[in-house]
Amino acid sequence: MRILVTGGAGFIGGHLAESFLADGHEVTVLDNFEPFYAEGIKRHTLSVHREVAEEADAEYRFIEGDVRDVETVQKIVADADVVVHQAAQAGVRESVKNPRKVTDINVDGTVNLLEAAKEANVKRVILASSSSVYGKPHSLPYEEDHPTEPVSPYGVTKLTQEHMARVYTELHGLPTVCLRYFTVYGPRMRPNMAISNFVSRCVNGEQPVIYGDGQQTRDFTYVDDVVDANRTLLESDAVDGEVLNIGSSDNISIQMLAETVRDQLAPGLEIVYESAREADAEHTHASVQKAGELIGYEPSRTIAEGVGEFIEWYQANREWYEPLVRAS
Ligand code: NAD
Repeated sequence: MRILVTGGAGFIGGHLAESFLADGHEVTVLDNFEPFYAEGIKRHTLSVHREVAEEADAEYRFIEGDVRDVETVQKIVADADVVVHQAAQAGVRESVKNPRKVTDINVDGTVNLLEAAKEANVKRVILASSSSVYGKPHSLPYEEDHPTEPVSPYGVTKLTQEHMARVYTELHGLPTVCLRYFTVYGPRMRPNMAISNFVSRCVNGEQPVIYGDGQQTRDFTYVDDVVDANRTLLESDAVDGEVLNIGSSDNISIQMLAETVRDQLAPGLEIVYESAREADAEHTHASVQKAGELIGYEPSRTIAEGVGEFIEWYQANREWYEPLVRAS
């Protein structure tokens, strides 16, 4: 299969491209190295892609380009069977600081891609959405029909993206599916995320810092589970036009997360609290029943297991990854 992964130099897109290559698919990655966080991680990801492609004898090309560039997008979408759209300006706080940029990339970039996919008759577009579309919880865990009242510009762009995808399916018969990811973590994760920060501080014997009282809860999803859901969807038309939650179906407080990291690395270290940051959702928790029923999705790890694997990876890659976390 010829697969285009937008944002494929990034964290999740990088893992997706790696897995598709290992399966022997022909993969094109489009990424513009958006300077949201250290480019070093993305360069590392591309070198992993080249290694995996060589081992699997799979065709791989990287195109440095922007999803907002109509001509580039038309050209590469025309060569794809399936488009897996991960490119976005991620980050809730960044979207509060810079709402025009996040709208530009996440909404206009997505429309470019859908338009090109419609013209090229691609088989399916799989889009990365987010738990941020829900906003304030009326009931937890979130089921897909829970009201959507995003509390950040980022959440609004992801919800708009979902509606655009649905409209392209309804108006033009373009098969699309949107996956609402819940806080994804794992190797090569963005360095400014809570888990990488907690690990980095505890590895160095420094107290982990929590913003707020630590009672915010999150559903943390191991990146391999996100990859599995996308892999299933390459071949399945069971959910065209749908949105699916992709989470761990468990939620823990940030304090418990910090304790889980601390207990594995530096038992006894005290946790420090600083003032809360704006526009962060208070609680997220996914119901994955729909994804289970429709595509057989099942989360594979507990948070303690996932954190343990991430710590192992962190220690093996500490030399190049840690300075990036420290600088974030
Ligand atoms: P990421 O920032 O690591 O990856 C996004 C990639 O897109 C980056 O490599 C960036 O350079 C690229 N990009 C940004 N703007 C672009 C543009 N205009 N043209 C081409 N490439 C561009 O983020 P991630 O964590 O891997 O997230 C991937 C997707 O999943 C995003 O759509 C994000 O909104 C969504 N998501 C992520 C999480 C999470 O916890 N990581 C949760 C929910 C949803």
